Amino acid sequence: MTALAADLRRLVQHSQVVDAPAELRTYAYDASFLTQLAPQSPDAVVIAGSEADVVSVMRYAYERGVPVTPRGAASGQTGGCVALRGGIVLALNALNRIVEIDVPNMQVICEPGVVHAQLNEQLAKHRLVFPPDPGSTRMATVGGMAANNAHGMRAVKYGPTGAWVLGLHVVLPDGTLIETGSAGSRAKQSSAGLELTKLFVGAEGTLGVMTQLRLKLMPIAPGRAIVLALFDELENAGRAVQAVFAAGITPSAIEILDERCVRAVNLYRPAMNLPEVEALLLFEVDGNPAGVGSDAAQIAEIVAPLVRGAGTADGARSVEWSVEAKRIAALWEARSVVGAAVGMLRPNANRAYCGEDICVPVARIPQTLRAIQDISQKYDIPIATYGHIGGGSLHPGHLIDGRNADDVARVLQVADEIHDLALRMGGTTTGEHGVGAVRARFMPQEHGPALDAMRRIKQALDPKGIMNPGKVFPDQMPVVEAELPIVLPVGEPARATVDPG
Ligand SMILES: Cc1cc2nc3c(=O)[nH]c(=O)nc-3n(C[C@H](O)[C@H](O)[C@H](O)COP(=O)(O)OP(=O)(O)OC[C@H]3O[C@@H](n4cnc5c(N)ncnc54)[C@H](O)[C@@H]3O)c2cc1C
Repeated sequence: MTALAADLRRLVQHSQVVDAPAELRTYAYDASFLTQLAPQSPDAVVIAGSEADVVSVMRYAYERGVPVTPRGAASGQTGGCVALRGGIVLALNALNRIVEIDVPNMQVICEPGVVHAQLNEQLAKHRLVFPPDPGSTRMATVGGMAANNAHGMRAVKYGPTGAWVLGLHVVLPDGTLIETGSAGSRAKQSSAGLELTKLFVGAEGTLGVMTQLRLKLMPIAPGRAIVLALFDELENAGRAVQAVFAAGITPSAIEILDERCVRAVNLYRPAMNLPEVEALLLFEVDGNPAGVGSDAAQIAEIVAPLVRGAGTADGARSVEWSVEAKRIAALWEARSVVGAAVGMLRPNANRAYCGEDICVPVARIPQTLRAIQDISQKYDIPIATYGHIGGGSLHPGHLIDGRNADDVARVLQVADEIHDLALRMGGTTTGEHGVGAVRARFMPQEHGPALDAMRRIKQALDPKGIMNPGKVFPDQMPVVEAELPIVLPVGEPARATVDPG
């Protein structure tokens, strides 16, 4: 047993500390390409069983200057919850109690390890919902979502996780427990003092550990409708989105699939038999059952002049709308399988999650999608792109053979070019997945002097720099050794040096 593990076992129960190398290895990954390339085991893991455990671990770590990395479900795609500088991984996923569903005040008090889908299953019994909805709903914890300010498909109407967090319990790096959002409050709004809640939301565990969340809820929308529109020109898909907003309609989701994604969905689910167009858009509207049908019909009418074969019989087949639950589910299926389906576009290839989460101004989406295809050709790496076009968020999916060191080197260049592209387009390197380790070195370019203001906040709250070091802030980023093969466990292992950017 290491000295660190022995010390930790004096603070929490023996079984809450993990220090066996094989078990530590399971904490060396999240869903990022970086950690596939360069998994990094912590020195010890503490599985927190209570808020008091978090307080005592943080006090101990602060006294000795040991790095601490909070971890939820590890569905993040940035290396955020992996201890790149060693030290302690603080696992919060066992802190998963829903403390109280306060129905009259439409809020829920819960621990950070509650899984998003499970929270909404419980809330649905009261016809309430916590609206942010990442694609990782069955994995992601609400603590991880708040730490990354996760978005999702319905952010275009309901905003990010941060818009729904009313207050937090946070254990600061020195072990002090604070409550943000006014102590003991159940108010749904407040103007009292600095908005500390917003400071910790999106800080990716670099400022403290969230141990309890007070989340705002809303009633489940009773009606829902969907519109499918097919375009043979990307630019027309972009115009269609702008025309819908200009008509005063705010859909609850607007999703785009590019040509390669449409092909991938057809390969994965041939029964869907989608026409292979340049872009497919799905609009969802929710609200009053009587109103959603008319909104959907209006969207169909607005986009009709822009769809494939507009004005012809083909044009009529290129746009459809429905309020029927079965049709809505079938069309959403095309969107939900795309992440898995893109892997079928290239034999023996898998998806590399890097440069996977840019966000650009909505008006520049067609231009951005074409530029991504140019990058794809330049590096000979197939890229299939989909995303939440209503908010400008795009997820390029790069397909590589993980046994091939040359593919790995090229896809890292692809990721760099995509991040640069996003900034050139007046956007951001991450629309919803966060910075973590993989985008930290783009932060000076993205924020300029504002990054120094962030550094001063970090320094004030975490003077010893123990809280999730190596993330968000680009200082002292480690250069790590990649372990290949990374995606398919076959072939001769190769090694390469990787800059985690
Ligand atoms: C298939 C798939 C689909 C996805 N779809 C979306 C999507 O649509 N939208 C979206 O926004 N994201 C999406 N993601 C990314 C990811 O699921 C989200 O970022 C999610 O919020 C991470 O939650 P987690 O519990 O897995 O956090 P982790 O990955 O464990 O941690 C993420 C970060 O939060 C910090 N952290 C975790 N818990 C705490 C805590 N209690 N206190 C302080 N810091 C903490 C960690 O240190 C780390 O920096 C997707 C991921 C996958 C694999």
